[in-house]
Amino acid sequence: MDRKYKLVFNDHNLQESITYALVTKFDLEPSVLRAEIDDNGGMMIVRLRGSEESIDNSVGYLNEIGVETVLLNKHIYRDMDKCIDCGSCVSICPARAFSIDKETWDIDLNFERCIACGSCLTACPTHAVTLTI
Ligand code: SF4
Ligand code: SF4
Repeated sequence: MDRKYKLVFNDHNLQESITYALVTKFDLEPSVLRAEIDDNGGMMIVRLRGSEESIDNSVGYLNEIGVETVLLNKHIYRDMDKCIDCGSCVSICPARAFSIDKETWDIDLNFERCIACGSCLTACPTHAVTLTI
């Protein structure tokens, strides 16, 4: 299985080799989707692939060393009453979370693909998209 998390670091745990630990201690395949880090801390969005037990254990480990973990699950939302199917989000999304249905020409959203970059929020002319991370 895989799950996506936002990891929040502080200046104490910033230097921890998180991805190394996720691989060696928990036999996970972590993919860093986005990272914003400076000397004071920062955040990283990662996809963890492995067994459910290993992912749960790794989250426990991260919390023990002071890394805040936020499960990203349906973190992107589109208000269908506001969406006008203009397609701006399709062209700007780097993760191809938005796509055009070739039969209906509707715009589809696959939240599993979203890496929470926020680009579609500014691209959307009707402010139909909300991102909660
Ligand atoms: S937040 Fe970024 S990755 Fe997610 S749907 Fe919008 S543009 Fe795509
Ligand atoms: S940019 Fe906004 S209005 Fe246009 S298709 Fe995407 S969500 Fe809908």
